[in-house]
Amino acid sequence: MNESTKNFLKSAYKEFYFNHGTDQIEFPDEVESREFGYIPFAGGMVRHLSFKSKGEGLAEILRQSPSSVYCSNARYEFPARPIDEKGWLGAELIFDIDATDIPTTCKRGHDLWYCEKCHASGKLPRPQKCPKCGGPSVEFHGTCETCLDAAKDHTMRVVRFLAEDFGVDPGVIRVYFSGNRGYHLHIFDKRFDLLDQQARAEIAEYMRGSSLPLSQTIASTLRRRPPSGPQGAGWTRRITGYVDERRQSYGGTLQKLVSEAISTQRAMVDSSVTTDIHRVFRLAGTLHGNTGMSKIRVAQMDRFDPQEDPVVLSPKPVKLMVGFYPRFRMKHKDFGPYKSEEVELPTYAAVSILTRGLGEAL
Ligand SMILES: [Zn+2]
Ligand SMILES: [Zn+2]
Repeated sequence: MNESTKNFLKSAYKEFYFNHGTDQIEFPDEVESREFGYIPFAGGMVRHLSFKSKGEGLAEILRQSPSSVYCSNARYEFPARPIDEKGWLGAELIFDIDATDIPTTCKRGHDLWYCEKCHASGKLPRPQKCPKCGGPSVEFHGTCETCLDAAKDHTMRVVRFLAEDFGVDPGVIRVYFSGNRGYHLHIFDKRFDLLDQQARAEIAEYMRGSSLPLSQTIASTLRRRPPSGPQGAGWTRRITGYVDERRQSYGGTLQKLVSEAISTQRAMVDSSVTTDIHRVFRLAGTLHGNTGMSKIRVAQMDRFDPQEDPVVLSPKPVKLMVGFYPRFRMKHKDFGPYKSEEVELPTYAAVSILTRGLGEAL
């Protein structure tokens, strides 16, 4: 990324924070106990920052206009000290759902490799070297409506798990679009705040269904009982309910039906994110460093449009040189594909190419 691209990105982000920072950026409660961090466009991560107030945090974001801004879900006695001296006071429970982790068949169509040198491209798996010129090859993960719908579906599954199996009041669940390909859920329920890594891992594994017995074992247990509707609690209730409703008319084996009961209800949360109690997360209302889209609060899931609502940068046209970029869709308009060409694009679309280092501003 050259200097003029970095300057362009910084000024595009600054314009957004200047006009919308006050009403868009959502600082958590007890802001003075949180650790903040950011990544400037020049590179490198700045961590262990703390702010006395929202106003101080906002002023720093505006001054730096960095590529990414982060904030801890943990509260600390001394947030600016090194990890082992911070004095951990608790952390909100967090879930991360990313389309990348959900198996969808469309990925074959939009995940690909490209050559950094000659911009040749092709389907995965990525060759070690570009077959055309021997240059370095890189993987590119695209996205599409199917992937975004799958991420939304799995996010709703998390909400259902929390409400039905953990007795969480839906009013304390805040759902955010991640700014890229997924969703973050922040749970403001004090019962979870002091859970350690092990307990958080158990919750994540429970939602992923990865601690369940083999579907074969479950099927042989179910075979010994007459279909009598949902029974028990948690996964037992979910599986018996799903299976018994369909058992009579189902064409396949009972084991297959059990697998289906699990795969349609499990939520593919990223366990490593839920488990890490010292992590910093993208601050709500700030821009994603790889897309220019906002980590935006989702008020109503069924009415949220991930290709429209998080696109908050200006439509002002800008000229750029694109090395390589596959077809993409923003604000319900199609762009690309581009290969070694000069194009004029709305700022929001240009930023998503430039932030990934696949073009330069002119
Ligand atoms: Zn090549
Ligand atoms: Zn897809």
